[in-house]
Amino acid sequence: MTLTNAHLAELLALAAEDAEGHRLKALRRASRLAFLWPLEAADLLAAGRSLTDLAGIGPWLARVLRAWFEDPPYIPDPPALRRDFLTLAEARRILAQAPDTYGGLRGDLQMHSDWSDGSGTILEMAAAGVEHGYGYVGITDHSKGLKIAGGIDEAELREQEREVERVNRELSERGLGLRVLRSLEMNLSPEGASDMEPAALARLDLVLGSFHSQLRKTDDQTGRYLAALRNPDIQVLGHPRGRVYDFRLGLSADWRRVFGTAAELDKAVEIDAFPDRQDLNVELLDAAREAEVRISIGTDAHHPWQLGHVDLGLAAAVRAGIPRDRILNFMEADELVAWAERVRSRGRERRITAAGSGDGTDLREGMGDSAGQAKEAKGKRRGRKPRKAGQGNGGGGGI
Ligand SMILES: [Zn+2]
Repeated sequence: MTLTNAHLAELLALAAEDAEGHRLKALRRASRLAFLWPLEAADLLAAGRSLTDLAGIGPWLARVLRAWFEDPPYIPDPPALRRDFLTLAEARRILAQAPDTYGGLRGDLQMHSDWSDGSGTILEMAAAGVEHGYGYVGITDHSKGLKIAGGIDEAELREQEREVERVNRELSERGLGLRVLRSLEMNLSPEGASDMEPAALARLDLVLGSFHSQLRKTDDQTGRYLAALRNPDIQVLGHPRGRVYDFRLGLSADWRRVFGTAAELDKAVEIDAFPDRQDLNVELLDAAREAEVRISIGTDAHHPWQLGHVDLGLAAAVRAGIPRDRILNFMEADELVAWAERVRSRGRERRITAAGSGDGTDLREGMGDSAGQAKEAKGKRRGRKPRKAGQGNGGGGGI
């Protein structure tokens, strides 16, 4: 048996369970970084190169890996916390086999700039998009409810809009065909509610809504997802499960119902391609394909180089057989913005209907679920602190 990077990641994670001190740290770090190695370690060895060429591998770990290659140990199925994550090497193999079907991605729909917890300016993130040959990138900084990630309020969002306009002018003056979309990763309350004024959100090209709190609940969370999808302010549900590699399992729900509702409302669910998120994962994407729900792919990049993570998201879509026409990122910018506007105006109508005629059964159902959750949450500690930026793969945000 040839050991793949996925096998090595699992062996490293298992070895970390028995290690201490700096070795524990090195093993954990390497286990995460193995997902980002662009080549299979086995191919590197076969080519006579040193394993220390791989990120996170020093002389000691190179010896450990070589011993595994010489005498492959038994590798049990990964625990749920580490299951169904693609490695970059694997993702690139998958994509190499489907170049015609999935070539020509037009944009990346989740990334953070230095307006919240990203390291790059909007221009730098846009330049990374140009390098990828994109027609657009969505700048989705955090909203004000997520203070730990430097979330921005309505006034800052308005200021950011002016910077986006400046950057777009500069890009077009330089003859670069990339457009920065005004977007936001809005923090949803566990009840699916917005933390920003609807009027501020209505000015944006696209709004993602994501949960960042109470992500360790183990009971069924279908109610909060339905409420979030029925929230008229959002068009895309970001990193739906909230899982993080070897750290948090994420939420569970009746996903068929969630995806069915999203499809009915013509909203999209996201593949967050951040290596230790990969959320939605392939298994849930199978259900998403059956529901014919729209899919949005975002790298959740917090640094310009992290736009390269897109292969993980795209490969997951390929593996689950998501048709190209269900993926937002294959739309032209104008088409995408027009879709978001259509979804938004449908939501507005629903809001008016619900308020005016008292016939807002759908809305009330969602809110009923939320009210139950709010009661449940009362008196308990609210949420967990999100992980610190830089704790993930190669210093990624991960919030
Ligand atoms: Zn997020």
